Amino acid sequence: MRFDELGLDEKILEAISYMGYEKASEIQELTIPAILAGKDILACAQTGTGKTAAFMLPILDHLSIEENHDLSTLIIVPTRELAIQINQQIQGFSYFLNINSVTVYGGRDGSDWDAESKALTKGTNIIVATPGKLISHLNLGYVKFDKIKHLVLDEADRMLDIGFYDDILRILSYVPDDRQTLMFSATMPQKIRDLAAKILKNPVEFSTAISKPAEGVLQAAYVVYENQKIPVISSLITNKPDLDSILVFSSTKRKVLDIVKSLKKAGNSVEGISSDLEQKEREDVLMRFRSRRTRILVATDVLSRGIDIKDINLIINFDVPGSAEDYVHRVGRTARADKTGIAISLINEHDMDKFDRIEKLIEQEVLKIPVPSELGDGPVYKVRPPRKGGRSQGKRKFSSGGRPQRGNSNPA
Ligand code: AMP
Repeated sequence: MRFDELGLDEKILEAISYMGYEKASEIQELTIPAILAGKDILACAQTGTGKTAAFMLPILDHLSIEENHDLSTLIIVPTRELAIQINQQIQGFSYFLNINSVTVYGGRDGSDWDAESKALTKGTNIIVATPGKLISHLNLGYVKFDKIKHLVLDEADRMLDIGFYDDILRILSYVPDDRQTLMFSATMPQKIRDLAAKILKNPVEFSTAISKPAEGVLQAAYVVYENQKIPVISSLITNKPDLDSILVFSSTKRKVLDIVKSLKKAGNSVEGISSDLEQKEREDVLMRFRSRRTRILVATDVLSRGIDIKDINLIINFDVPGSAEDYVHRVGRTARADKTGIAISLINEHDMDKFDRIEKLIEQEVLKIPVPSELGDGPVYKVRPPRKGGRSQGKRKFSSGGRPQRGNSNPA
């Protein structure tokens, strides 16, 4: 569907056309008319589906009609990176509108405090905030949320995972009941439904491709011993010079350092990012990666959700992520909005059951490719059989001797 069929303001249409959006994505087609009609929304949509525009365009449409200077929209997100990224998108969408937005998030040097508190009392229309920092401002008593008409909770499942449930309810107690509330979540566990039942009024529910990687991601996995992981990714990266933007996820900060060191030693352009870095350093590292000055970024899962870096060619899960949903989020960094990409996971002998759960969630069997022969055999891929009376786990065995059929095409 074209955007001009959705009933959006001309100035918004002009802005998104400059941004190169041609047709609405599925989630945009579903939610935009309902949000324009003033409904509350509960939407299951993952990063990469265009969900930011799905809630932001109709809100901006409302604000363009209202034409006032009130602080009327509050967007609550789990991480500072997502706050920055949503704010950047808002600036693009509202380029031809007289609308301002400000981010509120922790981890900066403190110089931002005055600007944030000013924005929270007067002078801006939209706040994009992480819960913790917002609560710090609320505690000081000057925050005025009495004109809020649109409230968005983005990546609500992630916020509950981080432990923001009480903070969210506390923030909501400052916001008028007479408001439109839009809740977006990548997954829909019971705790999200419970929160939705508490804060949404007669919501319209939408769901797009629940917990499955975006179409266009080519997924594959190596079954390896831990000490084969670095050699495997080294050879993968060296053999694919055409892939100019590679994101590697690892489970610990220690491993991030080790991977960066090894890849650097092999002559690669690589940087690491983890919560150890100051906010400013994190932004600088991300900027160099975004602008392709750094070819490979190695990250702990700080980055795995919500970060919008365009056109990553290859995602490597150095470790199988702890939750199946995290896999979907990580893989969501590639093949965003109609593009294609590759996601490779490294599965060691301890992570096979975990990987099996991922395959069940995405309802897809991921291609297992052989460890390059010079690195020796990998472990045999075996999934534990279902326990009697327990949940069915399915019985599968993908390879013999850790070496799947040679005929498999190697996607990377
Ligand atoms: P999101 O899921 O909101 O993180 O968006 C993923 C990426 O897709 C962002 O870079 C958006 O700018 C881009 N995007 C969103 N909607 C569209 C669209 N309709 N056409 C092209 N790109 C889009």
